[in-house]
Amino acid sequence: MKIELIYPKWPKLPNQPEFHLPPHGPVCFAAALPPDVEVSFCDEHVQEINYDTDADLVAISCMLTCQMPRGWQIADRFREMEMPVMFGGIGTMLHPEETLRHADSVFLGEAEGRMESVIEDARKGQLKPVYDFLRNNPDPALIKPARRDILQRELYNFRGVQMVDLVHASRGCRFNCFPCCTPYLGGRCFRPRPIENVVEEVAGIDNNRLFFVDNSLAQDDDWEKELFRALIPLKKKWISHPIKDDDEILDLAARAGCWYVYQAIVDMSEVIAERIRRYKERGIGVEGTILLGLDKHDEDYIKRMVDFLLELELDLAEFTIMTPFPGTPLREELQQQGRILHNDWARYTCGETVFQPAQLSVEKLNELNQYAWNTFYHDCSIEIKMAKLYVDVIKREKEDGTFRRIKLNRTRRWGRDKP
Ligand code: SF4
Repeated sequence: MKIELIYPKWPKLPNQPEFHLPPHGPVCFAAALPPDVEVSFCDEHVQEINYDTDADLVAISCMLTCQMPRGWQIADRFREMEMPVMFGGIGTMLHPEETLRHADSVFLGEAEGRMESVIEDARKGQLKPVYDFLRNNPDPALIKPARRDILQRELYNFRGVQMVDLVHASRGCRFNCFPCCTPYLGGRCFRPRPIENVVEEVAGIDNNRLFFVDNSLAQDDDWEKELFRALIPLKKKWISHPIKDDDEILDLAARAGCWYVYQAIVDMSEVIAERIRRYKERGIGVEGTILLGLDKHDEDYIKRMVDFLLELELDLAEFTIMTPFPGTPLREELQQQGRILHNDWARYTCGETVFQPAQLSVEKLNELNQYAWNTFYHDCSIEIKMAKLYVDVIKREKEDGTFRRIKLNRTRRWGRDKP
């Protein structure tokens, strides 16, 4: 059995430089397949799809809502050639009914422990239209090291600098933030992987720079401390979502190689300012993530927020426009109020307004989003600020002897660097 596994391309935020991180969903899915299944992988961001494949099954993995329309196009083309197509991933879970119109089968939920029977069905030509494991998550101890061998790793660099590899130490999230589709991100229950499994996987990754893509590491203090203690000897440098704001945990994170964190900035309070200071005191960089278009946001609020961010001296800031994704409390609320403008999913990128803001026109919110990017990066471009973070990590790697240059195969580079 051979699977052509495809990760469709999605439109990037217009203000961000063009770089690509290796996808995580497909490599986790591949690890859950029976060992005799051959996988050929294509990340459409950096590779071309092979429509002449001799595979027995096409599997399309989608993480985002704005990725779905492209996934459906790809599926339609394969199905015209009578190739069976199956979809999976978080995006698929958010759009199962629409996806079924373009697929022979949709897989909803996490793949570990389920793929033997699905592949058996595929071998017999008897794929079920829906495999629904959404409310029945597997034991995280079943998660095997991701199959990074299916990636063409040298394609994931930014102007010759090695990008991060993605890894996860837990699934689920016990928080319930209103714009978030938590039940589709591993469920509302924190499910840590056994730490020895995480350490084994991390130690085996042929890259010193990692991104822990866990929803939030700050869900269990004892587990977080144990994880960081276990990471210290590996000397990896890593990025993550927020870490618990606690002296002992932050100190351990810094010793364990925490390079920078993504920190949501939800208001202009001293609590947020203090939190950023406490990361930075320990040499941990901060990329602020700022959602624009909340009901309390008017023009004055957004402009003051940008001034506040400049005072905080964040390393990077990412501005996104609040977007009512399926499966979120936000969508339910805006739907009830008749404030959703359309369901053109390809435009659900967080780079444009798709709902009626409470205190601003649609055009004004789009304009203020651009204002925020321009003003935050007015004296130093995002590329230069990113480069500073990388210079910092290279310095640390040289200090502890973990730095190494990557070899680029220039004939296979893509995007802006395409020869
Ligand atoms: S936004 Fe992050 S922390 Fe909040 S519920 Fe979603 S995954 Fe959890």
